[in-house]
Amino acid sequence: MSKLYDLHVHSTASDGSLTPRELMREAHACRLAGLALTDHDTVDGIGEAIEEGEALGIEVLAGVEISVSEAGGKREMHVLALGIDPENASLVQRLREAQGDRLRRALGMVERLQALGIGISSGWVREATGSIGRPHVAKALVELGACRTLQEAFERFIGRNGPAYVPRRGISTKEAVQMTHEAGGIAVLAHPPLSVGVDAPGGLERFVARAARAGLDGIEVQHPSLSRKQRRRIARLARVHGLVPTGGSDFHGESKPDVRLGRGRGDIEIGTEAFQAVTERIRERRAPEPR
Ligand code: AMP
Ligand code: ZN
Ligand code: FE
Ligand code: FE
Repeated sequence: MSKLYDLHVHSTASDGSLTPRELMREAHACRLAGLALTDHDTVDGIGEAIEEGEALGIEVLAGVEISVSEAGGKREMHVLALGIDPENASLVQRLREAQGDRLRRALGMVERLQALGIGISSGWVREATGSIGRPHVAKALVELGACRTLQEAFERFIGRNGPAYVPRRGISTKEAVQMTHEAGGIAVLAHPPLSVGVDAPGGLERFVARAARAGLDGIEVQHPSLSRKQRRRIARLARVHGLVPTGGSDFHGESKPDVRLGRGRGDIEIGTEAFQAVTERIRERRAPEPR
């Protein structure tokens, strides 16, 4: 039987609900052979995940989900860096800048909510540990009773067109790819259809062609957000541009209770062959063949 892997997973280092250690125990319970920890704009959970992974016999691929923003925020996407050195100095520096922007955004959104008459405080933002994001603001809105669900918080306030939304100042796809390569990893376009600003006819195809020229290595063909039809479209794109097909559950724990580690909603399956294609690509990137 093929082993099972998950190449897109979050912990409390960003907006997941399990600590890296708890996550690895869950992976053990789910019989995973390996996973990539890909927290938003941070590598802070990786050391703990590797340590617990070693104890449990589960392989951990160091990763990070990089927030990309282009054309003044008109295009936004997530790029997964897989197989990186989490101590690479320029990567660490870029992620520190991204953390600064996350703090600025969260404080900005709290300010806007206050201006809208919501009695939300800002102290918790500065005290928060880990990579802060909109899910944290949404959770605060639910806890103080301003919204019933996280979804409602996004719909009424902090979704892209919401009155308290503050845009990010992310880096470009090209920069994300470069910093990933410098850190010894491969760059993978995460959940392509959840990207913003590529939904015009042929928009995704044009974006992927450009990203491939900039050195993109892979693309997620498996993700809970993808329909079968979308998976076929993206698999075709992967073949056309020589991108390695990857995927994962995008596990967050309690905020998406129907998504299981390694299996998503029963629609994710990354076996040994797919995992090896990814690790092979990482090896190639680190030691390019002489031409
Ligand atoms: P941020 O990185 O701060 O912009 O927050 C983006 C994260 O918020 C995404 O990775 C999702 O996990 C979550 N998110 C975005 N839109 C929604 C939504 N409509 N409902 C629930 N969660 C959302
Ligand atoms: Zn997330
Ligand atoms: Fe994402
Ligand atoms: Fe994610």
